[in-house]
Parts: sequence; C-alpha cells; structure tokens
Amino acid sequence: MLERLSGKKKNMTNPENYDVVVLGSGEAGKYLAWTLASKGKRVVVIERRFIGGSCPNIACLPSKNVIHSAKVVSYFRRAAEFGIDAGDWKVAMPGVRERKRTMVDGLVAMHLDKFKASGAELLLGEGRFVSPKTVEVTLPDGGTRVVRGDIVVVNTGTRARIDPIPGLSMARPLTHIEALDLDQVPEHLLILGGGFVGLELAQAFRRLGSHVTIVERNGRLAHREDRDVSVALQELFRDEGIKIVTDTSVDRVAGLSGGSVTLHATRDEAEITIEGSHLLVASGRVPNTDGIGLEHAGVETDARGFVKVDERLQTTAAEVWAVGDCAGSPQFTHIGFDDFRVVRDQLAGGHRVTTGRPVPSCLFTDPELARIGLSETEAQNRGIAYRLAKLPMAAVLRTRTLSETRGFMKALIEAEGDRILGFTMFGAEAGEMMAIVQLAMSAGLPYTVLRDSILTHPTMAEGLGSLFAGVPAEPTANVGTH
Ligand SMILES: Cc1cc2nc3c(=O)[nH]c(=O)nc-3n(C[C@H](O)[C@H](O)[C@H](O)COP(=O)(O)OP(=O)(O)OC[C@H]3O[C@@H](n4cnc5c(N)ncnc54)[C@H](O)[C@@H]3O)c2cc1C
Repeated sequence: MLERLSGKKKNMTNPENYDVVVLGSGEAGKYLAWTLASKGKRVVVIERRFIGGSCPNIACLPSKNVIHSAKVVSYFRRAAEFGIDAGDWKVAMPGVRERKRTMVDGLVAMHLDKFKASGAELLLGEGRFVSPKTVEVTLPDGGTRVVRGDIVVVNTGTRARIDPIPGLSMARPLTHIEALDLDQVPEHLLILGGGFVGLELAQAFRRLGSHVTIVERNGRLAHREDRDVSVALQELFRDEGIKIVTDTSVDRVAGLSGGSVTLHATRDEAEITIEGSHLLVASGRVPNTDGIGLEHAGVETDARGFVKVDERLQTTAAEVWAVGDCAGSPQFTHIGFDDFRVVRDQLAGGHRVTTGRPVPSCLFTDPELARIGLSETEAQNRGIAYRLAKLPMAAVLRTRTLSETRGFMKALIEAEGDRILGFTMFGAEAGEMMAIVQLAMSAGLPYTVLRDSILTHPTMAEGLGSLFAGVPAEPTANVGTH
C-alpha cells in the first residue's frame, strides 16, 4: 500500500509530458489526435471503455444497424404486397445482435488501425484531472499513469439520464446500451421519453415484435418540431401499433425491467398505471463531467454540468478545449466532427468558430424526419416572415415505385428574397434529400436553382423541383404551427 502511494506521488510530481492530451476518444477528440499525431505531435488519448466513442460502439451506428434489421423485418411483414410468399419466418434476436456486434468489432478494428497509422497513443483507463492540464489515469489493472499536455482536450460525452423517480433505478431500466444488445425481443417495452432515441428504438422494437408504449411528459412527440411533423409521426406510430401516452409524468416505478415493470403515473390529474416487461430510459442525457476533477484544472461547468466554452471551444482554463456533447454542443456526431475542425483550425492559427453554423438533424425512423434551418415554429417565434412550399411525398413519383408514399416536405423561403431559410422532410430518404437543400443554403443559392434544375426522373431528388415550383409569391400567414 505504502509502495503504491509513494509510486503515485512520484507520478504526480513527474508526469509524462505530451504535446496533446485528449480525455475521451469521441468524435472530435479522436480526429484531433490522429491529425495532430500525423503531423508529428506527441499525442495521448485516454479512453475508459469505448474505443472511438459512443457513435461506433453504442449509439448512432449500432442503432442504425438494428433499425435496418427492423426494416428488413417490415419488408417480410409486407411480403405479400411485393408479390412474395415469405412462408414461415420469425425474428431471431441473437442474429440481429450478431450482425450489430460484427459491425462494431469491425469499427473498433478500424479505429485501432487509425491510432497505429497516426502514431497517437491510445491509453485505456479512467482519466481524472489532478492539477491544471494534468490527468491521472487509472489503468484496467489498478495501476496509474499521470500525463500532462501542453494542450488538453476534454471529450467525455454524455450518458443516459436516469431521473430521480422513486423506484426507477431499482427497476434497473435498460438504456440504449443494453437495448441495442438484447438477445430477446422484449414482450412489452415501455419507453420513457419521446425524443430521438426513444422514437427510433420504439419503431425498431415494434417491428422486431415487441408491444411498445412510449410515455412522454410533453403534449406530443418530437414537441420541438412543427405540429404537422408531430402529427405525422404520431400517425405513423399509431399505424404500426405503438401506443403513445403523452402529457404523462411518472411518479413511481415498481418491479424489475426484464421481468415485469409497472409505471405509476399522473395524466390529466388522474393516476394511471402502465405495465410492461421491459423499461427503457430515453429521457435525456447528462454530461460526463462529474467526478473527473475539472475543479483541479480550472475548467468551469454550467448549471447543468456542461463544460463552459466560448465560440472557439476554449474552456475557462488556458489551453484546455472541450468538444462534443460534454461542451454543450448540439448532440450529434456530425457536430462533434465540426468541433474537431474548429479546434484544429484554431490551433493552426485560423478563426473557425461554432457561431452560426448549420445544425442538420435526421431522426432515423422509417420514413426519416430530417430538418435543416428554420422550422415554421422557429420562424414565427422570431418574427421572421417567410413563404412556404409544402408537397406530399405521394406527389414525388419515386415514392409510388417504392410503395413509400407517406409524409411530406416543406421549405421556408425568404419573404423578400429567394434564399431558402429552412427545409423539413418526413419521408423516404429524407436525410439524403436534406443534404441537397443544405448545400444550396450554404452556397446562398436562390431556391430557383433547385426549381429550374433538370433532375433525374424518377428520383426522390426530382421532388425538390416540384416542391420549389410551388413557392407562393406572397408571405405565408401565421397559421399557428405550434
Ligand atoms: C442511441 C443513440 C443514437 C444516436 N444516433 C445518432 C445519429 O444517428 N446521428 C448523430 O449524429 N448522433 C446520434 N446520436 C448522438 C451521438 O451519439 C452523440 O452526439 C455523439 O456520440 C457524442 O460524441 P462525443 O464525442 O461528444 O462523445 P462520446 O462519443 O460519448 O465520447 C466520449 C468518450 O469519452 C469516454 N470517457 C468519458 N469519461 C471518461 C473518463 N473519465 N476517462 C476516460 N474516458 C472517458 C467515454 O467512454 C466515451 O468513449 C445518438 C445517440 C444515442 C444515445
């Protein structure tokens, strides 16, 4: 014991020096590490569990993998519609999980190759600041190393929030991590939260064979989107047999997820109970900034625990940067990637900042919901006049060939000009379609360029020509979308 203590003390007074120390191997941190190391900098990345961060291991990519399995199941269910006699078939969750695990293993191997090729050191262990720019790392075997960087980057991400509802943590609810690694289809999955994670997993598990109930405290799903978007999503979920209980706050949880769970809740001032076999928490994220010694490093956090940063992603401590979810950036991997570009350019003497950058988003339900720029609600709240073009997806002939006619797209155009202010699409391939409009927006192109382009028939993109052909001459009246 004495030996270990004295060893530790020696480490703290003589830390190993690096040009760059990255705490957490998430999106921005790993790209910074690879980029700077390949330019000859001495870089170490500390990671406690998920090599390459959440996205490839437990979040974006595994969820989209399982969602795609669920899409294949939906085709089996619709086989007759496509003229196929699928015979007897059933979902085998161990196979669904195996496909996902194989993908994740491949991604981790890809990350390890990139560390090797760039020369950035990957140090597996739990990191904690012990003094400015100095991190003590507890290694898997219990030993410690202390590293100090001329530059330090905090990239510790977020985790699923477990609200302090009596009985909730005792019920051992699933988070997305366990839900994406199940080898059985839950008989009845209760989902707390109708945000992105809850909605994507609700539809996937319903398609894989679960009964699914979403419990949402707000009045509607995806309540930050325009009302027509929420309504369309709710219709989709209703048609697929997903039960949605809105305006409901859970007061108490009884039972154990994986066996039997009961939610005791309040709705319209009445007490209700909701029963299921499994419980998934998807009601928000908390930053992984507690217990990592930020106070020893002069790095301040805000009231919700996110690291305080300026528009350059600089923290309150000199030469310490914070990136991704933990820095309060919008919680998307593509934003994490842009955080990498901001810090990379700042370190190279450039002036890239986070201010005013576009934040595209895509909800990977089937069909997808994608948005870039202003929604109608936002435009109205900010008093911005706009012209609205809206088109049902059934008017895009490609959707008829696919039997995927559900949804709509809409675009907001300046009232006094032709620039595109926002685009929302709920329909097949919405994420890909949005990128076309985003490009036009970032190039400052008038909507007429898309309207007048010769777009291949029959593609989804062809629909953009029809959408923009419908832009009215007059501004749209406030129709109360929220
Ligand atoms: C189910 C789900 C699906 C999602 N789908 C999408 C999607 O389709 N598209 C999209 O853009 N976004 C999606 N997101 C959001 C996206 O995953 C996150 O915004 C993104 O992964 C955040 O990246 P990050 O680099 O900030 O943090 P992370 O990727 O979480 O990286 C932080 C890393 O730090 C490590 N760490 C934390 N503390 C320590 C410590 N003390 N010592 C050592 N290591 C530590 C963690 O283990 C982790 O590996 C999804 C999220 C979830 C939960």
